[in-house]
Amino acid sequence: MATIFSNDKDNKNDSLKNRILECFILDGNSTNTDLAKELGLSVPTVSKLINEMTEEGFVNEYGKLETAEGRKPNLYGLNPDSGYFIGVDIKQQGLNIGLMNFRGDLVELLNNAPYEPQNTEASLDELCRHIREFVANLSIDTRKILDIGINISGRVNPDTGYSYSMFNFSELPLTKLMEEKLGYPVSIDNDTRAMAFGEYMQGCVRGEKNVLFVNLSWGLGVGIIIDGQLYKGKSGFAGEFGHIHAFDNGILCHCGKKGCLETEASGSAFCRVVKERIAAGETSVLSAKPLDEITFDDVIEATEREDPLCLDALEGIGLYLGEHVASLINLFNPELVIIGGTMSLTGDFLMHSIRTSILKYSLNLVNKDTHLCISKLKERAGVVGACMLARKYVLEM
Ligand SMILES: [Zn+2]
Repeated sequence: MATIFSNDKDNKNDSLKNRILECFILDGNSTNTDLAKELGLSVPTVSKLINEMTEEGFVNEYGKLETAEGRKPNLYGLNPDSGYFIGVDIKQQGLNIGLMNFRGDLVELLNNAPYEPQNTEASLDELCRHIREFVANLSIDTRKILDIGINISGRVNPDTGYSYSMFNFSELPLTKLMEEKLGYPVSIDNDTRAMAFGEYMQGCVRGEKNVLFVNLSWGLGVGIIIDGQLYKGKSGFAGEFGHIHAFDNGILCHCGKKGCLETEASGSAFCRVVKERIAAGETSVLSAKPLDEITFDDVIEATEREDPLCLDALEGIGLYLGEHVASLINLFNPELVIIGGTMSLTGDFLMHSIRTSILKYSLNLVNKDTHLCISKLKERAGVVGACMLARKYVLEM
């Protein structure tokens, strides 16, 4: 793993500098005295490091702290333009790419570039072409790009850089392969985990440390945050909520097993149910379209326009999902459960049925501890999370 200042983990000054940057990221601007207290260092040591970091361009002085009496101390904080991170969110259909500055502001966003991921080298090359094009159109000094974070669906080990479900055709870790193609450091993580982290850093989390993020998109997954840390499991495979066996419906899941939760509670299930019911003769605003041309986006849009068939199907999805979110609440006793992903665009219609089911199936006392909310970042959660994870990776936070 890389640090900003060197690759030498034994260099004490460099690791202290990373910790100072981490303080600025988590707590905002600060005085040398407060930093010294936070890090357990002497004020002269912190002052020396801050002076060096100012010269190196990573830290700016932001005026003086207003105090009632005595000498007003200088306030220091991150120089937002000292480094940049790119986040890439690959969706079932389409690609979002964002650029974040060092402070965490999203400064560029490309939404929904046409792209359909396949598990082939040609598809990976196309992805890299999109990223190179995005970089070429940026107006910043691109030498300041410190890392490109990529969200990948399925089984991903962020520590080794291997992806096992997507782009899995080389002996090399996917990160190494992409670094060779792109010429920048690359990190990868599971898409749901990245979304959970985005929501944690910039979305609806307000100080809660035990949080579950349910990604209800084409598939279904859960991002787990315990004591403020993303939980990955032994190999990065934690959170495969959608592949819990839940139904004896005989429906084959794309993972190869039958009756997974995802076969009845996901965007793909939502599309299937709506199409089946239209084929059986029920009417919908989508009836005018040939069945095989109806997309996930069409179904979401029809739901937002309050199409009765779509609303009814959505209620069923929400009830199934809520039943199993109730189990998660019983298991984890979280402070906050966030419902995110593409289907969270349907808002209250979805939340109402999930809430009803949670009340019915979770333990009363446990459920009282848990607040349920809808994603604030919505479709941006993935890009924000990918950028944030790229920064976390560089700083070894
Ligand atoms: Zn499955």
